[in-house]
Amino acid sequence: MSIKSNIVEILTTLSHTDARLIAVSKTKPVSEIMEAYRAGIRDFGENKVQELVEKQALLPKDIRWHMIGHLQRNKVKYLASFVDLIHGIDSFKLLKEVDKQGQKNNRIMPCLLQVHIAEEESKFGFSQEELEDMLQGPAFVSFKNVNIQGVMGMATFTANRDQIRKEFKGLKQLFDALKPFCAHLPNVDLKEISMGMSGDYEIAVEEGSTMVRVGSAIFGKRA
Ligand SMILES: *Cc1c(COP(=O)(O)O)cnc(C)c1O
Repeated sequence: MSIKSNIVEILTTLSHTDARLIAVSKTKPVSEIMEAYRAGIRDFGENKVQELVEKQALLPKDIRWHMIGHLQRNKVKYLASFVDLIHGIDSFKLLKEVDKQGQKNNRIMPCLLQVHIAEEESKFGFSQEELEDMLQGPAFVSFKNVNIQGVMGMATFTANRDQIRKEFKGLKQLFDALKPFCAHLPNVDLKEISMGMSGDYEIAVEEGSTMVRVGSAIFGKRA
């Protein structure tokens, strides 16, 4: 199986849906990213700032770069000038820093709020209650250099398909429930639900995903 044929297969599945494919290229060399690029992919996801910055410098400028991993506040400055979407906003403090760097770069920074949907303790993200509190808080509206475009979630790492589906359904419900809290907020434009990876993207699109983040099903297993 080649990178190109993997992409064709995934895009065929997605063609019946509204979901966009984000090719997760973490750990993969620039040559393989170029293979995916030649197959038509323009959205790439990375989870490490340094790797993202290095690859961005070497690759075509019409690529849209997605920061999909946990983002440390002190590293926002390295990608603020070019990143197209930050999927993993998981704290108020991080959002504040992203707003500050957006201001410095004279940009509005597109962001997704990461929601904790998995059973595991370790996964990052907000609860619904935390999100509602943040969106209603006085400081939030002052963030003029961010644009919250939706939510992101990662399901539990499990073979139980029913559980994964339940968690994706939960994220879609939360997304719908947040809308009334955002209607009056100029820096929120809820439209994206980033959910689904190689093992579960088909379930995710059935449950309303608008962006699937697929790595190994395109590029093969990571070392
Ligand atoms: C690595 C990663 C993916 C892609 O995982 P695959 O199972 O290789 O498709 C998606 N989302 C995040 C946040 C990741 O870190």
